[in-house]
Amino acid sequence: MKDITPDNIETFARLIEEARHPVIVTHAKPDGDAIGSSVAMFHFLGLCGKDDRLLVLNDNCPRFLGFIRETVPQEALIIREEKQQKALEAIEKADLIICLDFHAFHRTGGLEMPLAESKAKKILIDHHLDPDRSLYNLSFSKNDISSASEFVFWILMATPQINGNAQNLPLACATALMTGMTTDTNNFGNSVYPSTLAMASDLLSAGVDRDMILQKINQEHSESRLRLKGFMLKDLMKVTKDGVAYMVLDKKAQYGYKMQEGDTEGFVNEPLSIGKVRMSIFAREDSGEVRISIRSKRGTSANKCAKLFFNGGGHENAAGGKLFMPISEVEEYIKKHAHIYMTEYEK
Ligand code: 5GP
Ligand code: MN
Repeated sequence: MKDITPDNIETFARLIEEARHPVIVTHAKPDGDAIGSSVAMFHFLGLCGKDDRLLVLNDNCPRFLGFIRETVPQEALIIREEKQQKALEAIEKADLIICLDFHAFHRTGGLEMPLAESKAKKILIDHHLDPDRSLYNLSFSKNDISSASEFVFWILMATPQINGNAQNLPLACATALMTGMTTDTNNFGNSVYPSTLAMASDLLSAGVDRDMILQKINQEHSESRLRLKGFMLKDLMKVTKDGVAYMVLDKKAQYGYKMQEGDTEGFVNEPLSIGKVRMSIFAREDSGEVRISIRSKRGTSANKCAKLFFNGGGHENAAGGKLFMPISEVEEYIKKHAHIYMTEYEK
């Protein structure tokens, strides 16, 4: 597999062996893949005897990922939004920083400057387009893979500690990897490669409880979350002539439906069930900005649209970005630019 060469694995093992204060970081607003890959790496470092390891998150993860996050002892988890000083000190003290599931430091929110200024050795493991490899002592980067979690899985499998046998992974590590891959593929709905199924098979054989994972990620949400989804699909969703569906969710509705972080995860996929819809855009009012999520069907590029008009990027069919304007102007902006995009950039 690209980048998983004997030389790179040797360097990976050496960088870990030499590290006394390793720190793991991932992108802001961490999703299942971000939490899954980072928590898995945390447990692998434990297996390597790195008792001083820390996981530093910019902000907390959604409630439904609590079962993964809670496998990290409280004293080893620092959330920057809650403990700014501790997070900065941890990054300053680190002699190795392992960066997971992001292609550029700005994706880590408030950790961007501390990371850029850190003198620590750095390892990147990521599945997004165009990382700046010069920022890292070692980089594993590949797009044709389901998730950062899958990438971590194959890297760990190549290490002497795991030695090609998933049974050697600590169970919490294996469970975190299965969770990250499952959420990033929408439970095997997209970005599935032969290697993805091989990983799932290995992890199941190693004792991972997939039914438990599915229950945690799909069946433990609040009633108001499902009602919010109903409201969005019934009252907010608009479909244009060009085959674009969009939904704009303001703060008022978020309060009305007691929305929690992570509650709208996946909602942007729903409009793609409509035959004539080729791209779905979801805008959500956040503090100081409007968060954008874009999903597209094969043949239409969510990534290009996010880059051109929404200050973002991502993967070919799943991308995101930000808008900086009052939420009242967002619907008009999306309508106009979705039309320009579909008629001038996608034919
Ligand atoms: P989501 O819609 O789930 O928030 O994000 C989907 C994908 O879009 C993420 O995996 C990430 O690759 C990308 N993405 C989301 N937000 C941003 C952003 O602000 N900037 C960039 N460059 N990519 C983003
Ligand atoms: Mn990911």
